[in-house]
Amino acid sequence: MTMTLMTTSCQKEETKADDFDYTVDSFADIEVLRYKVPGFEELSLNQKKLIYYLTEAAIWGRDILWDQNNEYNLPIRRMLEAVYNNYTGDRDSQEFKDFEQYLKQVWFANGIHHHYSTDKFTPSFSREFLAAELDKLPEGDWTASRDTIFELIFNPAVAAKRVNQAEGEDLIATSANNLYKGVTQAEVEAYFDALKDPSDATPVSYGLNTRVVKENGKIVEQPYKVGGLYSQAIEKIVENLEKAAEFAENDSQRRIIETLVEYYRNGDLKTFDEYSILWAEDTDSKVDFINGFIEDYGDPLGMTGAWESIVNFKDEEASHRTEVLSSNAQWFEDNSPTDKRFKKDQVKGVSAKVITAAILAGDAYPATPIGINLPNANWIRAAHGSKSVTLENITRAYDEASHGNGFNEEFVIDDETAKLLDDYLFITDNLHTDLHECLGHGSGKLLPGVARDALKAHGSTIEETRADLFALYYLADPKLIEIGLLDNPEAYKAEYYKYILNGLMTQLMRIEPGKDVEEAHMRNRKLIAEWVYEHGNADNVIELVKKDGKTFVKINDYQALRGLFGQLLAEIQRITSEGDYPAARDLVETYAVKVDPAIHREVLDRYSHLSIAPYKGFVNPVYTPVVENGEIVDINITYDEDYINQMLRYGRDYSGLKPTE
Ligand code: ZN
Repeated sequence: MTMTLMTTSCQKEETKADDFDYTVDSFADIEVLRYKVPGFEELSLNQKKLIYYLTEAAIWGRDILWDQNNEYNLPIRRMLEAVYNNYTGDRDSQEFKDFEQYLKQVWFANGIHHHYSTDKFTPSFSREFLAAELDKLPEGDWTASRDTIFELIFNPAVAAKRVNQAEGEDLIATSANNLYKGVTQAEVEAYFDALKDPSDATPVSYGLNTRVVKENGKIVEQPYKVGGLYSQAIEKIVENLEKAAEFAENDSQRRIIETLVEYYRNGDLKTFDEYSILWAEDTDSKVDFINGFIEDYGDPLGMTGAWESIVNFKDEEASHRTEVLSSNAQWFEDNSPTDKRFKKDQVKGVSAKVITAAILAGDAYPATPIGINLPNANWIRAAHGSKSVTLENITRAYDEASHGNGFNEEFVIDDETAKLLDDYLFITDNLHTDLHECLGHGSGKLLPGVARDALKAHGSTIEETRADLFALYYLADPKLIEIGLLDNPEAYKAEYYKYILNGLMTQLMRIEPGKDVEEAHMRNRKLIAEWVYEHGNADNVIELVKKDGKTFVKINDYQALRGLFGQLLAEIQRITSEGDYPAARDLVETYAVKVDPAIHREVLDRYSHLSIAPYKGFVNPVYTPVVENGEIVDINITYDEDYINQMLRYGRDYSGLKPTE
């Protein structure tokens, strides 16, 4: 069958022809890239203005996330930037370079804890250096004492971890985020248990937009809203949303923006649900956005949403791919290897599209997801559907920046497999994301009475595992060829190989020696890879072979591997549907957490010879209104701002938050 690889292959040619410079900066374990926004120039003036004001609303939320991550992040950033801007010494000296690297790391992580591991950074410059530089400056209004800030920066024992997930500890007391204050985990759990009504079929997302504190011995929630916490930043968000509403593409989009504004004003989670429903049901608008307290990974209890925003518009051609998947959603649900009792009779409104990101902000900046599926509330997803997107200009940037980095030569077992990856990894990786987001998360159902948070601290890992397995299982299905999304029945092997290699070995490059795997997506990939490796052992499905003292992944039976993905998917769906916490915990603890030190050491060593940063993120393009006679006649987009200048500009021009909050 001679099917084309949809529009992606055409786009690939386009981007290959130009000499866009994707790499911006690199430091520590980070590489900063830039992304293109193809199609922006062709949008109507109204759409450009809409996007412009939405991007302003996006950037204005930045400080909220900084403060959510730790209460001293903003004072620390202001102090560090003041020193950086006023430094008159030798900028090539080692001490200044160490200082600059630390500041770059803090910028990238939106605070003093690594964005991924959530461990606190260790500065390589000295207390004395910082103290001496501060002495040269006029008294700064850091709103925290110098002693406090120095303890935060230099004392490794203070606020050591932003999000602690270690079983058996008080996860609130041991997490350095700013989502709870003066309360214990037991108190918070008791507080929310008392609020929840198990018979409520449409529960709000409790705790999503609040800080939980103790006032006069009583547990109370302080809402993030106009007039509440983060008011100064939220007012600027609201101001720009209101301007954006003037350029809405249609009435339903205008209502979406207005309802979001109402929610920012009243802080009422019922209004947020109304907004989420309107947003999920709007599949006609070309321009779209996320703006609010969304993902709960930063909260060890999985309740409070980290502030984020992504503004985007639909990539019409590439969206054909996800539309084909969506229109077959029921077929995928019916044919999945899960138990009938856990399937949805009717998969509703799985809307999926490929988008072009126009700005990344808050929790999605500089590190960003490549696929998103929202809203998070299960009952809304079931009753009103969810929207699932793949950020293809972002995956394109990753792909372009990775060419020729030596990864395949170092880690891929043979030329044949490397060629498979070259030919099919980009498309199967994108398809994996599409399947994960638009079908995987939306598939299956909870049995009546099972709570959304029944799997507690392991909920995110199990949910990501479920969506990944769904995607992996179907990548190898002849259905994808039948509906024209792949042209080669062998193509799926590219993603299978890369997935197992990553889960068993290469993702360990992100982990420091001696540490456990903690982040939910990494745990999920390890869980899957280790489980299928072990369960396929008797049949030699996956082998770890040694060549010249190096370990390589060899997959002997791809179809058997698919069978194992299906088996594990059935079990993970059962665990989810029944809320079987002990089984979730056993799987996570057995397969997802502990690292084999020998293979870990080997991976780190092999990586150290390549110049590949474990983490990547992005600078945003700059949008500038062109004004003639007091009227905006166009919005210009430029790509030449570098990392430092973008961070300093955001800090200077978009920092409305009083740090005392
Ligand atoms: Zn996911």
